[in-house]
Amino acid sequence: MSVEPSLSSVSSGSATPTKTSELTDTLARPLHDLRISVTDRCNFRCTYCMPRSLFGEPYRFLDREGLLQFSEIAHVTRISAELGVRKVRLTGGEPLLRPALEELVALLSAIPGIDDLALTTNGSLLTPEKARLLREAGLRRVTISLDSLRDDVFQGINDVGFPVSRVLQAIDTAAAAGLPVKINMVVRRDLNDQDVLPMARHFRGSGHVVRFIEYMDAGNLNGWREEQVVPAQEMLARIAEHWPLEPVDQARFGEVAKRYRYVDGQGEIGIIASITQPFCESCTRARLSADGRVFTCLFGTRNHDLRSLLRAGANDDALRSSLRLVWAARGDQYSALRATLPRSEGASKIEMYQIGG
Ligand code: SAM
Ligand code: SF4
Ligand code: SF4
Repeated sequence: MSVEPSLSSVSSGSATPTKTSELTDTLARPLHDLRISVTDRCNFRCTYCMPRSLFGEPYRFLDREGLLQFSEIAHVTRISAELGVRKVRLTGGEPLLRPALEELVALLSAIPGIDDLALTTNGSLLTPEKARLLREAGLRRVTISLDSLRDDVFQGINDVGFPVSRVLQAIDTAAAAGLPVKINMVVRRDLNDQDVLPMARHFRGSGHVVRFIEYMDAGNLNGWREEQVVPAQEMLARIAEHWPLEPVDQARFGEVAKRYRYVDGQGEIGIIASITQPFCESCTRARLSADGRVFTCLFGTRNHDLRSLLRAGANDDALRSSLRLVWAARGDQYSALRATLPRSEGASKIEMYQIGG
């Protein structure tokens, strides 16, 4: 039986919060996820993330010294796990630009409490050898970004002429290495919204889950406008018109994507409706930038410099109480309040390439 393809038909509160720690923020949200950006560099110049006009030759990226070392990242993750973090995602910039990323994966997967370790990548550097090394080091899952199946559109977005076929190859490579794959598609009106159906069609029955993402007003550089957002409800309706969908219960509190399965058994999709259906009330994610700053919101303007603390020789107790204070003071709910917030021209929100989505 098919159901109305309605986002509201999935109760956002259907999953009970798994209290993994005593530590909660001012809105009673536990700390559960850590997203780690391992580099601010990228080999793509996606127009909505690192537009070439701003990230050309003269742009100064972090130097080696500025980046957290793997041991420093592992230290922060170990303390975070003590405070409740169970899920870690490596991102960037393009995380596979960081040499020997599998060494970091091995350090993180050995930390008690971390039971999910994932990677978000543009797929361009995911060779079979790399996929095998990452898998063997303890990577559990991979998310690969692909915004269109049309080469002209995709190459226009990545702005480095990278072909669709190579991303599809990376998806096969990850799957062949035994890594479950999700595909992130950021949908922007009049850019790639015609690609929603072809993407759904292509990946139906493949075992890979496509997550259709509303274009967000992240950072200050991409010139985001509300009319560029394709509401999740519209994407869902377009897909369900061809292939009826039914909602799937949230697996756990804090899951970002609303899940739907094809009624004919051909798999699942996810919808991330950060603009039209904000999910701040269940947001359990902290973010660590490549230079060691902790952000408690994707749209954060404030941050907490852990790199200085680490390099000043802070012990576990100092790091723990610092992170504890940061989380306990957290009251972020940017998306939930977006409509009521003054439009912040030239404000200093963290950029997506610095914090990794
Ligand atoms: N370079 C890697 C990649 O592209 O997968 C990891 C970093 S990238 C910043 C992480 C994810 O954020 C990608 O799936 C990208 O499409 C998404 N993203 C970037 N800017 C976005 C925006 N303004 N709105 C929604 N998603 C965005
Ligand atoms: Fe690079 Fe990912 Fe940003 Fe594209 S979305 S520029 S691949 S960091
Ligand atoms: Fe979490 Fe901030 Fe996004 Fe709300 S706006 S869901 S608090 S990251």
